[in-house]
Amino acid sequence: MTSTTVTPLAPAAPRPPASSIDTDRVADLIGQLLVELGEDPERDGLAETPKRVAAWWSDFLSPGSAPLATRFTEPHLAGQLVVVGGIGVWSLCEHHMIPMNLQVTAGYLAEEEVVGLSKFSRVAKHFAGRLQVQERYTREVAEHLAGVIGREDVAVAVRGLHLCMSMRGVRMEEARTTTVHSGGRFSTDPALAQQFLLLATSQRNAA
Ligand SMILES: [Zn+2]
Repeated sequence: MTSTTVTPLAPAAPRPPASSIDTDRVADLIGQLLVELGEDPERDGLAETPKRVAAWWSDFLSPGSAPLATRFTEPHLAGQLVVVGGIGVWSLCEHHMIPMNLQVTAGYLAEEEVVGLSKFSRVAKHFAGRLQVQERYTREVAEHLAGVIGREDVAVAVRGLHLCMSMRGVRMEEARTTTVHSGGRFSTDPALAQQFLLLATSQRNAA
């Protein structure tokens, strides 16, 4: 028998709600920034830029309402390792305000209830919609999923391409950073941790 329950996810870390963003004020400030950068915000190509950028910020900081997690009762999956990969999101590095592309793989040990797989990508997007660092992002996604499944047996691996590394200084265009956050049995059982990392790597290579 299969049943479905919907559980509200724990609230995200505090940050200003997007609805409090004054987009007219942001557009005004972008216009001033253009002047300080030696540009003429009145010229053809730039006339609408401050408004567009302000609208983008508002959109970026509103990555959907807090997602709901759907849980299914699947007794035959109890004890199995479930790995969900192939999730790609864009975030902004908080040190340089330059985009980073994050490829996310999440794993957990199923008990009689499993989490609806489509929800992982919404969780991944939710935490990407703010100024971030990859390490904190990885931890936030992992902690959130642990809250959803009600256990600590969660591992999250993130592979990030940071355009701030590609564009600045020594241009490391192909450099990728990998971060892993694991809890519960993933941190106490090396064989399980290795199995997760192997699956995470193979999913990435297949993508
Ligand atoms: Zn950066």
